Amino acid sequence: MEGALTARDRVGIQDFVLLDETTDAAFLSNLKKRFSRDLIYTYIGTLLVSVNPYKELDIYNKKQMETYMGINFFELPPHIYALADNAYQTMLTEFDNHFILISGESGAGKTEASKKILQYYAVSCPSTTLLNTVRDKMLMSNPVLEAFGNAKTLKNDNSSRFGKYMDIQFDSQGDAVGGHILNYLLEKSRVVHQNHGERNFHIFYQLVEGGEDDLLHQLGLERDAQHYNYLTQGECAIVSSINDRNDWKTVKNALLSSPHGFFHSVQHLFGIVSSVLHLGNIRFESNSKGQAVLANNDELRWLLGVDARSLQEGLTYRKIEVLSPFTVDHAIYARDALAKAIYGQTFTWLVNRINESMENKDPSRKTVIGLLDIYGFEVFYVNSFEQFCINYCNEKLQQLFIQLTLASEQEEYEAEGIEVIPNHIHTGDEECLRPGDATDLTFLERLEDKMGNHPHFVTHKLADKMTRKTLERGDFRLLHYAGEVTYCVVGFLDKNNDLLYRNIKDLICQSKNAIVKECFSTMDADSRRRPETVATQFKSSLLKLTEILMAKEAWYIRCLKSNESKQPGQFDEALIRHQVKYLGLMEHLRVRRAGFAYRRKFDVFLKRYKPLCPATWPHWRGEPADGVEVLVQHLGYLPNEYKMGRTKIFIRHPRTLYATEDAFEKC
Ligand code: ADP
Ligand code: MG
Repeated sequence: MEGALTARDRVGIQDFVLLDETTDAAFLSNLKKRFSRDLIYTYIGTLLVSVNPYKELDIYNKKQMETYMGINFFELPPHIYALADNAYQTMLTEFDNHFILISGESGAGKTEASKKILQYYAVSCPSTTLLNTVRDKMLMSNPVLEAFGNAKTLKNDNSSRFGKYMDIQFDSQGDAVGGHILNYLLEKSRVVHQNHGERNFHIFYQLVEGGEDDLLHQLGLERDAQHYNYLTQGECAIVSSINDRNDWKTVKNALLSSPHGFFHSVQHLFGIVSSVLHLGNIRFESNSKGQAVLANNDELRWLLGVDARSLQEGLTYRKIEVLSPFTVDHAIYARDALAKAIYGQTFTWLVNRINESMENKDPSRKTVIGLLDIYGFEVFYVNSFEQFCINYCNEKLQQLFIQLTLASEQEEYEAEGIEVIPNHIHTGDEECLRPGDATDLTFLERLEDKMGNHPHFVTHKLADKMTRKTLERGDFRLLHYAGEVTYCVVGFLDKNNDLLYRNIKDLICQSKNAIVKECFSTMDADSRRRPETVATQFKSSLLKLTEILMAKEAWYIRCLKSNESKQPGQFDEALIRHQVKYLGLMEHLRVRRAGFAYRRKFDVFLKRYKPLCPATWPHWRGEPADGVEVLVQHLGYLPNEYKMGRTKIFIRHPRTLYATEDAFEKC
């Protein structure tokens, strides 16, 4: 006993469920104690809490991986490998689908966590040479997608600016045999605009800094990020934590040697990246009639393999029936829209290409483990449409988490007087973002009409005197689960409509660049229909994602950011307390302590344990739920030991189940 106590004092408690008291203070002190010893992982039952150490820890080597293979979850110190292994073993024994939801705010360590899981599977699953290629493809997709989809923000030097859900498919032996990625809303506006202290997507700097002389010459690029309008707005092209030159080598190798079949497209791919840079350097002036003309047309010849004169026309005129000239502002708008469109389409093309290469056409049944790594909640000094979408997405995922983990214990809460996290806001109705809106301000008015009474919504007009002082006229403020965010509506409509003029689109379809041509000729073939707004598309893609996830068994990793300055060893208590609160970790802990630790879908439970009861063996003909009820009563479960949910049975103490397991082993 004494020994156990010392260990406890030294390294804290490995599972919060075993904590003596469930107060915020005890929770935080345990987390802090562990963090100070570089123990960044702690469980709440089977949920993994991870605190970003902001330094390399020697806990991700092959030896560690081997230690965690096939172990009982609670036998060894908490580790992300233990969770990955547990999900994998459960998938194999129950032959069903799982997903790992990794959440936390921007910079908390989600992407690193997802990479560690992938690496674990790459090493731990049985292997044959054939399957190694699937594995390589999965591993190599990471540097490529990060180069094109990640960027330095104020929150994170390697911030994911797209959402990613990756299914890893396993056959019945547990071999990884295929994969599939779903990508969500890339922050395209970053291509043409970066806030102070932020960068464009990594690939641009990698190419300019690391690209070989020949290649740069061929693409007409200068080896100087400062030369490019699209790379310098944030005034931080060089970042000490990022080595663009080395990263270029990694990305280029991944592309060239990649089993994804990029080899022949690499020239086209870099052609697009450089075209975007050239496009950004086109300047416009106003002629005597107030019409936009190109101030410099030497950039045009480097662009996308399209006819220079037509492109010039496309950037300065709009064709509705006849050609009507643009003002300079309009021309800049058209230029930026083009840059965003080609970059965004190229990103989708990359994901599709990776998917084709990882696809497993073998029809035999497979099970999957899905990894969800999406952009985290973020609040900047100025927040725009992008933050609105990102934070909306996080709110949805938090709702899903609550629904999957807490809602089934609703009664339990009430009995215990635990506060239920309010089912927040349906954030900003995309109805309000109809393309017909004249201006951002009319959008705001409509939002006020629709949301006016919502307690988590306020604008300048609706605010009381005190609050009004903190709001500009074009602002609206939402109280998200993770905190208050003030959004500035300027640019909302444009970003949401994401319009590319028809004549430019037609022109781009004729590009000699094979990727561009492919992307744009397949893009909205039905041009008569008004394209869906970005918010509508995003909302429906998230709805689909929720459905995908709901059909699987869930595992959770909750990542916490240790401090705002990205420093090792700093445990910012206030910051962490805030995250612990809004992530609902205390509620989760209380429910786990009070509640039903084990939960399984009725059919899965029945399938496994039906040999233990004559009424259910060999077949149960009725509803699975009824079969489960018959089964557990036969086994002598007491009424307070289990609970029937809508789709699952909940078992209070694992020991009840252990007895069942023992019986199962013996039968
Ligand atoms: P998120 O995806 O949540 O925004 P990242 O996973 O990109 O955050 O992590 C941000 C940074 O924090 C990483 O670039 C890395 O420097 C550091 N980091 C995150 N997780 C770990 C870890 N487990 N060990 C060491 N450093 C980490
Ligand atoms: Mg990330």
